[in-house]
Amino acid sequence: MHIQIELTTICNYGCFYCAGRDMEQRDIDMALFDQILHQRLPPGRHRVSLQGEGEPTMHPKFWEMVQAVAALGHTPYTITNGSRMKPDKVAQYFPRIGISIDTIDPDEAERIKRHNVAKVLRNLEALLEIYEPWRVVVHTVDYGQPLDALREYLARLKINKHVVQGLQVKDDYAKRYPGQLPVTFHKLKYNCAYIDQPVMRFFNIDGVEMPCCYIKDASKFTSIEDIRDSLQRKVVPSACVGCNELHENETSRSGVFQIM
Ligand code: SF4
Ligand code: SF4
Repeated sequence: MHIQIELTTICNYGCFYCAGRDMEQRDIDMALFDQILHQRLPPGRHRVSLQGEGEPTMHPKFWEMVQAVAALGHTPYTITNGSRMKPDKVAQYFPRIGISIDTIDPDEAERIKRHNVAKVLRNLEALLEIYEPWRVVVHTVDYGQPLDALREYLARLKINKHVVQGLQVKDDYAKRYPGQLPVTFHKLKYNCAYIDQPVMRFFNIDGVEMPCCYIKDASKFTSIEDIRDSLQRKVVPSACVGCNELHENETSRSGVFQIM
């Protein structure tokens, strides 16, 4: 199963679309992290992604946590903004790693508060001196910016996994960019892949276990069973309002693109 544990809400960037910028800025407690990892995961080996609404490497014990995940036989993963990369440690512990890059244009990167993109690109290129390009997954939020230069750059580096996601339409995120989503009329559906099957488990910074990583206000979440019951009654649970999963006709330009 895919497990996600939120290590921190702190970030050295300030992306306008990031739900974490509205959250209390803090790190997960190490004892809570240990408890989740050792006592609360389902049986078996999992892909454990150390990732949430902050930059994971900002947690002072990030590498200790990565080592703990690997020591238990799980596969560590993370998505980092690449500004604080340690290539040797990445190569040692991460079979694959996600790096978020929205643009390679320095002015545009500064405008959206992804500071010093040149350093991120240098870090990525240093990593690729000791790490095969197929092991890197680049994640991009598509907010309407030109993407051709980024795609050409990744092709030059032989990185062929590029995950592009549109701006999140769920209310928890969309409140940060009012008026920037296309106006569309969605037909609601009342089933969610994350509820139908145990696709993933997300543990937020307080250790609240949820079925997906899209519920940012955990006070609205009661239980997976309550969400399932509510959907069966054709009522959208308050924790899920606006979620793309409940829309028949997705409008985002999301996708995974293989760069040849
Ligand atoms: S780099 Fe990631 S965590 Fe940091 S502000 Fe941007 S989206 Fe949020
Ligand atoms: S927030 Fe979305 S993905 Fe998560 S349980 Fe609700 S409908 Fe499903």
